[in-house]
Amino acid sequence: MRAGGLSLCSGEPLPGAQAPRGMEEDELQEKEFFSWEEFSAFFDAWCERRKVLFFVKNSVPLSKCKWATAPPRPDVVEALKYSSVRLVCKDFRGSNWARAWSPYPCCGCCASIVLKMSPKKDRLIVTECQLAHNHALCPIEFAYYFKKGYLMANSCLPVRTTNKISKQFVGGPDVRRLLSYCKSRDHGVLDVLTVLDRLFASDPNAKVKLVFMEDKVIVQTIFFLSSRMMVLSRRFPLMLFFDRMVGLNEEFDLYSVLCVDGAGRGREVAYCLTQRETPDLLRFTLASLVQSVPEVKLQVRCITLGVEIAHLEAVKELLPNARVQICRSQVLETLFSKAQELGAAEDERIWPLLCRLAAAKSPAAYQQAAQEMKAILPQRFVRYFQRHWQPRSEMWVQFWAFETARNVNACELLKQHQRRLLAALSPSPTVAQCMLDLLAMQVGSEAHELDEGELATHYRAICKPEPAGLIEEELGFARHGRYRFQETAEGYLLHDGLSEFAMDQALTRCSCSIYSSSLLPCRHLFATRLRTGLALFDPGLLHRNQAALLGAC
Ligand SMILES: [Zn+2]
Ligand SMILES: [Zn+2]
Repeated sequence: MRAGGLSLCSGEPLPGAQAPRGMEEDELQEKEFFSWEEFSAFFDAWCERRKVLFFVKNSVPLSKCKWATAPPRPDVVEALKYSSVRLVCKDFRGSNWARAWSPYPCCGCCASIVLKMSPKKDRLIVTECQLAHNHALCPIEFAYYFKKGYLMANSCLPVRTTNKISKQFVGGPDVRRLLSYCKSRDHGVLDVLTVLDRLFASDPNAKVKLVFMEDKVIVQTIFFLSSRMMVLSRRFPLMLFFDRMVGLNEEFDLYSVLCVDGAGRGREVAYCLTQRETPDLLRFTLASLVQSVPEVKLQVRCITLGVEIAHLEAVKELLPNARVQICRSQVLETLFSKAQELGAAEDERIWPLLCRLAAAKSPAAYQQAAQEMKAILPQRFVRYFQRHWQPRSEMWVQFWAFETARNVNACELLKQHQRRLLAALSPSPTVAQCMLDLLAMQVGSEAHELDEGELATHYRAICKPEPAGLIEEELGFARHGRYRFQETAEGYLLHDGLSEFAMDQALTRCSCSIYSSSLLPCRHLFATRLRTGLALFDPGLLHRNQAALLGAC
């Protein structure tokens, strides 16, 4: 019997502890597995029974093999993952130095197992196994170190790498390093990394935070924003919106942060994709946003949240100057369906009453509507309301939770965003596909916003025909694939592939010859406005050329 007593846990070599080849070896030798997953499950259970700890010492991933003859089929590569794997005991320590100085012929433990792909290239076979340890096996140590599923997780990426990188911002070089470690397509990790690699290739300043599940190579959460989104959040930080997309997928959720651009439209400033039911996403997303664009921390004055967002206290801490509001129309819908659920009668007075409650323009009007509720709604609902919504009335009743000076309708803005997401995202996409769709949507939304005909009509309404014609022509060049943008201390730089043009912070002046000679808005101003969310129709663009305006003499 093997010495397994607690007193022998030191791991000191025990010469002579080598057991003769026995049943254990017979059980394993020549055993066949049709997938790495099958082997991992078998080996986890086997190690658990024997309280032995093995780790992968060397391995040759099938995806990185070169073949002189016909290569194995892709599904086989996917299933088997390795052409050979050598697992050794945790007490291996087989360095040359240790061997040279050790009083024993082999200072570390020599227990090991070798698995190889069969010559037919369709299964893994245990080709060597040496299971005698030169030390005691300690159940306490085993319980401490053993991680079920580790072999399987490690077959995609080294788990220690994902643990280390998790919750940190990653850059292009990190993603490329992870890609070079990546041995299989498990859990879509490789696909996600490939999308990130593309993102960084076109936008090296994008901000990405990856969270992996602990000890697993599964992406739990991805936070990301492109450098365009960063520009938008710097320019329009006053009001933010945070909501979850409804009905995206069974597996994961999409959260977006929006701002309001110069034309009053909701624009995305950050995305967070996460496994469903990941807690406290508001805190994680806002913290990541503030880390990416630190200026916004003190600038945000108001944040409107979707009705189901929890842990609102995170806002106080991360955006100390921001008032919290809850999307009023979502609160109304919630109240109405809760009333049905709690047994409200079919009563056509209910909806108008709830609307009056939410839209109350004075505390007295709110109090009155709240009183009326008691008469037509069941007691249970009134109690629910008093517990959940009364204490937060300042966040959703119109009198307190007024929107803004700029008359933005928060509910409409969130609804529009939801519709745009539904139109842009593939039906039940993978995480990687969803990221691709979202990034494409950014580019597409620009095109959508540039309604040249409508803009030209606006300019014709205030300009004389000739300058209006020039402006229309320039609008036609605003969308240009080769433009590259850069923020500077003075404003913006635009490269069109040949030359570079400088514009002021307010985007009303440009260094190009078109602007200098006509003092009318040029293609560069339009393109940069499009990019940064400023309105393309802006009478301010004509301030320096009053003669172009209708009614000027
Ligand atoms: Zn050992
Ligand atoms: Zn210009």
